[in-house]
Amino acid sequence: MEKDENFSEWFDRVLREAEIVDDRYPVKGFVVYRGWGYEIARRIASILEELLEEDGHQPVLFPTVIPEDAFRREAEHIAGFSGEVFWITHAGERRLERRLILRPTSETAIYPLFKLWIRSHADLPLKIHQTCTVYRYETKATRPLYRGREFLWNEAHTAHVDFEDAERQVKKGVEIYSKVFDKLCLSYLILRRPEFDKFAGAVYSIAFDTWNPDGKVNQIGTVHHLGENFARAFDVTYEDPTGRQRYASTTCYGLGISRTIAAVIAHHGDDHGLVLPPVIAPKQVVIVPIPMKGYEEAVAEYAVEVEGVLSEGGLRVILDDDPKRRPGEKFYKWEMFGIPVRVEIGPKEVEGRTLTLVRRDTLERCETPLDGAVEAIRVLFKEIEENLRERSWSRLRSEIGEASNLEELRRLMEERRIVRVNWCGSDECAERMKEEVAGEIRGMRWDEEETPTGPCIACGGEALYVVYVSRAY
Ligand SMILES: [Zn+2]
Repeated sequence: MEKDENFSEWFDRVLREAEIVDDRYPVKGFVVYRGWGYEIARRIASILEELLEEDGHQPVLFPTVIPEDAFRREAEHIAGFSGEVFWITHAGERRLERRLILRPTSETAIYPLFKLWIRSHADLPLKIHQTCTVYRYETKATRPLYRGREFLWNEAHTAHVDFEDAERQVKKGVEIYSKVFDKLCLSYLILRRPEFDKFAGAVYSIAFDTWNPDGKVNQIGTVHHLGENFARAFDVTYEDPTGRQRYASTTCYGLGISRTIAAVIAHHGDDHGLVLPPVIAPKQVVIVPIPMKGYEEAVAEYAVEVEGVLSEGGLRVILDDDPKRRPGEKFYKWEMFGIPVRVEIGPKEVEGRTLTLVRRDTLERCETPLDGAVEAIRVLFKEIEENLRERSWSRLRSEIGEASNLEELRRLMEERRIVRVNWCGSDECAERMKEEVAGEIRGMRWDEEETPTGPCIACGGEALYVVYVSRAY
């Protein structure tokens, strides 16, 4: 199955055969995480949680339901989300007097409690996070991991004494997310979303967009400065050192775990299936014994010994000694599951007390003595990570094209690229790009200043921004 020929079919097959998620659950837009997929999800979540907690975020778990009156508090927020929330209107036979929604995101669940918890400047900053599922009634076609009606994410919410301190937290949030994606060897663009596309209720929004083989960018994380908007709507105030009541400034950020797994699969996978960075692989090493006539017992014993050495060395190891399947079938299976390193053991390895290592990313082989094997495999993990990271970033660079008029933009959009253009900043020109060439303005670089080198691509007027245009999930 060729990934680049038919990404969509390839992706569905990897989800099924590598036991990531099963989309045959009988409710559209809802999927079941299977063993391999959910372990990957939990490892991604724990990398993120550890970084958030190092930065002083406390883990919390808020209820899934939000009362209607709380949800309706922040005007722009409702306007942005009301079309896609699930309502709970009944309990048993009775109609609820106070309708509830399933959280599409948790600001309106959290702020009524922030109001109670925050009294004085000494309570700030307040930083919390939770890993949970959220619910959005997506009307566009759903697609497992990319766009579901229930998805897995981590959301952080913070409150600060003023706009500047909240802005420092926004930078911190971007830094934490960058670290997570770097560990997963993913490339990304950090973009400040245009006004018309910011989070409902935010002052501004920053997003992590990444390439996808089908040409639709995948938003894997967002960070928002909320200013005093939510604090005013929910009356979250604190007493400053002079005794004056002031509104808190707040931020929130979310990292889509489902979408991040989609990016890992899409960036690193190949025609043999999944390729996992060692840091999130549920099993990092698979040992496959290759018995030959007369050596069965020696090979089996040595394989168990190797398993012991590698496990004791702290590696996550599986020994596949199922006698009913041939080595070739095992290679095929574990390549599909993306285990970073395969260890092959036959009579030659037993004789020399060595291991043959096959790295999943390049399928190259090498030999190493059992003595020192743990260290050698760890070195190989580093090389695999560097290779995956380099491949992902060079693909991102090659996806980006430049257009100086709508015709060029049209051509590059047809090639399903991410296109850099000059833009005047008007909604009309954004609308034209969307209508005429099906390109969405994703935003301008947040981590690097880029100045326009020519007029607006749509109206020919003075350009204020360099923006990235693409199709998107
Ligand atoms: Zn324009």
